[in-house]
Amino acid sequence: MYQRPKGTADILPAQSGQWQKIEATARQVFSRYQYQEIRTPIFENYEVFARSAGDTSDIVTKEMYTFEDKGKRMMALRPEGTAGVVRAYVENKLYGPEFTKPYKVYYMGPMFRYERPQSGRQRQFHQIGVEAFGSESPALDAETIAMAEDLLTQLGARNVKVVINTLGDPESREAYHAALIAYLTPFKDELSEDSKIRLEKNPLRILDSKDKHDQEIVANAPQILDFLSEAASAHFEAVKTYLTDLHIPFEVDATMVRGLDYYNHTIFEVMSDDPAFGGGFTTILAGGRYNGLVEELGGPATPGVGFGMGVERLLLLMQDTVVAPVLPAYIVTIDDSAIPTALQLATAIRRSGYGVDLDYMGKKAKGQFKAANKANAQLVLTLGESELETKTAQVKNMASGEQVGVSFDRLMSDFETVYHELMGGEQ
Ligand code: ATP
Ligand code: MG
Repeated sequence: MYQRPKGTADILPAQSGQWQKIEATARQVFSRYQYQEIRTPIFENYEVFARSAGDTSDIVTKEMYTFEDKGKRMMALRPEGTAGVVRAYVENKLYGPEFTKPYKVYYMGPMFRYERPQSGRQRQFHQIGVEAFGSESPALDAETIAMAEDLLTQLGARNVKVVINTLGDPESREAYHAALIAYLTPFKDELSEDSKIRLEKNPLRILDSKDKHDQEIVANAPQILDFLSEAASAHFEAVKTYLTDLHIPFEVDATMVRGLDYYNHTIFEVMSDDPAFGGGFTTILAGGRYNGLVEELGGPATPGVGFGMGVERLLLLMQDTVVAPVLPAYIVTIDDSAIPTALQLATAIRRSGYGVDLDYMGKKAKGQFKAANKANAQLVLTLGESELETKTAQVKNMASGEQVGVSFDRLMSDFETVYHELMGGEQ
């Protein structure tokens, strides 16, 4: 028997309703903030991700699914959404004067990372994310964080908190890099192998190390907040003021960095310590500002800010709130002679916009009534010998038990009125 690849999941009909609900809620929330959907390829040239995520990031060094296509091009399955969106932004010249700024887009879909699978960590997982290009305003950072909070609230996520930090501007980063290298160099021999390399290439990355001993060393490292330029400090202060004015509770974690190299200024995560995550805080949604990324991928200098949310992690948090859908009608056939009429009625009713089902398993009438109940049928249409003769179905409201005869003609031509008459006030 074949098995699905390790780290992937089948989303079965029992769960897909909840996925659709999440996606619909996200679309609704995003559209209120003037975001529109963008759909980019699931795979891109390897360089798109390598350049944007940074070549010392875990994603690029360990987690990316790469392959050479038959034309000998190096390709990669997307490990995250931002790089592809930025590539599309540049390639389609969405920075042009004909487009409103900030240019706001959202995406949803599968991402791929070669990781050790565990609860809330898969090799194919799904993200819902947003990007806004063209504005440097700290008000947009605050709006993006507010939208993330709004989204999670609408989705009924419990036990969440917003954590923010700043990575400053290039000037702040340069000063901080120097201080960090000065602090870490005496520990060089103790650092993990990965971090030894990072020390040369990208010391900031060490702050994000998953290695226990690295983390102990890093605990006393200098903090970026002490190295902010005046402009970077003002930006961060403004973001905090806006969030406070919006009554969005947040924590500042000066040690927080992000797994991708492209961030600067504001970064943020929404975390939860819900028991579903088995102790400690887990990040559900993460994002920030990336003012250099568009340029890095060949576009004009353009600021950007966005976030990505892990749908599987969100699902661990959500109570099972999806109610079983109702079925407007079920057609019970007393014997096979009623099947042609039942099919015609069903087709006409479906074309008029109502869901209806009937039996294809040769069940007896009793079994069909059971099936109607299981499907939460609101009305049951019964077709027996006398109904066929009089061309009239018995239509029963399953909630009230009320039953009336309705002509086939009316059922075919105007089911909507029949439905409303029989359902009365209830829906
Ligand atoms: P982590 O530190 O948990 O590996 P990350 O920093 O790699 O997270 P991001 O790249 O910021 O994560 O991705 C944003 C969100 O996508 C995460 O907060 C998480 O909800 C989700 N996510 C990331 N990797 C996975 C994965 N392998 N499986 C499921 N969800 C994931
Ligand atoms: Mg990761």
